[in-house]
Amino acid sequence: MEWETVIGLEIHTQLATKSKIFSGAATAYGAEPNTQACAVDLGLPGVLPVLNREVVTMAAKFGLAIGAKVAPLSVFARKNYFYPDLPKGYQISQYELPIVEHGTLEIELEDGTTKIIGVTRAHLEEDAGKSLHEDFHGMTGIDLNRAGTPLLEIVSEPDMRSAKEAVAYMKKMHSLVTYLGISDGNMQEGSFRCDANVSVRPKGQKEFGTRTELKNINSFRFVERAINFEVERQIDVLESGGKIIQETRLYDADKDETRSMRSKEEAMDYRYFPDPDLLPVAISEKQLAEVRNTLPELPDAKRQRFMADYGLSRDDAGQLTADRMTADYFETVAGKCGDAKLAANWVNTSLAGALNKDGKAISASPVSADMLGGMLLRIKDNTISGKLAKEIFEAMWQGEGDADTIIDKKGLRQITDTGAIETVLDEIIAANPQQVEQLKAGKDKLMGFFVGQVMKQTGGKANPGQVNELLKKKLGL
Ligand code: ADP
Ligand code: MG
Repeated sequence: MEWETVIGLEIHTQLATKSKIFSGAATAYGAEPNTQACAVDLGLPGVLPVLNREVVTMAAKFGLAIGAKVAPLSVFARKNYFYPDLPKGYQISQYELPIVEHGTLEIELEDGTTKIIGVTRAHLEEDAGKSLHEDFHGMTGIDLNRAGTPLLEIVSEPDMRSAKEAVAYMKKMHSLVTYLGISDGNMQEGSFRCDANVSVRPKGQKEFGTRTELKNINSFRFVERAINFEVERQIDVLESGGKIIQETRLYDADKDETRSMRSKEEAMDYRYFPDPDLLPVAISEKQLAEVRNTLPELPDAKRQRFMADYGLSRDDAGQLTADRMTADYFETVAGKCGDAKLAANWVNTSLAGALNKDGKAISASPVSADMLGGMLLRIKDNTISGKLAKEIFEAMWQGEGDADTIIDKKGLRQITDTGAIETVLDEIIAANPQQVEQLKAGKDKLMGFFVGQVMKQTGGKANPGQVNELLKKKLGL
C-alpha cells in the first residue's frame, strides 16, 4: 500500500527580551544555576506577575509578518500540572484566546516550487525550569534560571507531507523570527525547538491517521531524521496489522530512534482557566500600526531585491538571505569591493565552507565582512590572482591580519610587470623545445603546460591571462 505522511509542527521560540515575561529577573543564558530566579519565578506566595510589555510587541510583529490576525484582546490561562521544575504548579500560557491566529508561511521545496503552510495560532507563555539529571548521584538537580523565560509557541496546521517539507518550514520560520529580531534563534541553547506531530494514512484517504508527537527537537537535521524514523515505524505497525497509539515520543539522536514517553490517555488534564492575576492583553489599532512601521525587510523581499539589484541567481540570493546576518555581511562585502557576484561567490562558498568546517556562526567569523571585501578589492585591482586569494583568505582566517598586511608580509603581490614574466617564460621555452614544436604544430592543450610552468616558477604570482597572451605573441600563434 502507498502511504502519505502528515505533519504539523509546534515550534517554541524564546523571545529575545532582557528580563522574563512576568518578572524582572534576567534571561541571559549560561548563568550559575538558580542565580536568575526571583520570588515570582519561584512561585512564592503573595507575589504577582507583571507582564513584560516587550513580549506583546514581539508577538504582534510576528503576527503581522505572517499575515495573521493579531487579537485585540487575548487572555493568559493557567495550565496546571505537577513537575519539580514548575514550582507554581501551573504554567502561565494562553489557551482559548491566543494573541496570534490564522497566518501563513510560504516554503520552497527542493524542486523549486513553493507551498503555503497554515499557521493555526501563536501564543505567549512562560518556560519552565530545568531538571538536571547528571552530577547529582542518583538525584535530580533543579535549575530555575529558565523558569519564566518568555516563549512564543507557534502551531502549524497539519499541512506538511514529508520530513523535507517540515525542515523547510522550520528553517523558514527560524529565518523569520531572527529577521524580526524577536529571537536569537540559538538552537544549541534551546531558543528555537520544536515538537513534531506525525501520522500516516493510505494515499487517497481523506481522514487523518492517529498521530504521535515527537518532543523537543532542537536541530534541523534531527527533525528530519526523527520524522523519517517515525514514519517508517508507523507504517511497519500498520502493515503488520497493529494500531498507532496516540502518544508522546522522544527522539534519541544517538540511537536514531523514537521511544514512547507517555500515552495521551495518561496525559494529565491541564484544567486550563484564565489566570486571575493577569489582565487580558489589549492591543489597539494604533499600537498595531506602530508595530507595522517597525517591520524590517523580510527574507522573501530581500531575496527578490538581491536578484533584482545585484543580478544574483535565485539560489545564490536564497542562500544569502536565509539569515539576516549573512545578508548584511554580503551587502557589506559587495559594497566594499564593488562586485556583487564576486562577493556572493566568496560568501556562499569559501566563507560558508570555513564557517561550516569550524562549526562557527557568521557572527563569530574570524574574517569580518570588511576584511573579505578588502581582499576582493585586491582581486579586482589585479594585485592578487583568484588562486592566491584562497591562500590569503586562509591566512586571514588563521588571524594573520587583513589582506594587505598578508600580501606584503608574504610577498604575494601578483607580478604584473611584463618584463619579469617574459624572463621566466623565455627560460621555460628554451628548456622545452619539443613542447614548443608540438604547440606550434597545433597541439593547443600544451598552452596549459606552459602557463602551469610559469605559475609554478613564480609561486602562483603571475597572471595566467597575461602569460597566455605573452606566450602566443612569442610563438607567433
Ligand atoms: P494538542 O492540543 O493536543 O496538542 P492540536 O490539535 O493543537 O493538539 O495539534 C497540535 C499539532 O498537531 C498541530 O501542529 C497540528 O497541525 C498537528 N496535528 C493534528 N492532527 C494531526 C495528525 N493527524 N497528523 C499530524 N499532525 C497533526
Ligand atoms: Mg500540543
